Amino acid sequence: MFSWLRRTAELFGAPRSGKWPRVRREHLAKNPACIACGRTTDVEVHHVQPFHERPELELDPSNLVTLSADHCHFVFGHCLNWATSNPRVREDAAAYRRRIDEVRSTN
Ligand SMILES: [Zn+2]
Ligand SMILES: [Zn+2]
Repeated sequence: MFSWLRRTAELFGAPRSGKWPRVRREHLAKNPACIACGRTTDVEVHHVQPFHERPELELDPSNLVTLSADHCHFVFGHCLNWATSNPRVREDAAAYRRRIDEVRSTN
């Protein structure tokens, strides 16, 4: 329901604090890589506890993770549904990352 709207809001920061662009930029400067696949281009900043549920955490750095646009963001951040979110995004992305490293080291 209206996931495109929430998606648009997330991408463009429509309902967000005026401080969000700076917080987002600072987060990406410190955390440039997707926590799942390691990509550093075409990444987004995802709120672990979603903005619509915990608006007070919008600018809290501990609530932010970097995920590559569309793929990792959609899979790990939102469990294939923009209208939901994954409270275990950090653990799931870390497990995926470890698995990638394991497979790479044996090939
Ligand atoms: Zn990724
Ligand atoms: Zn997100």
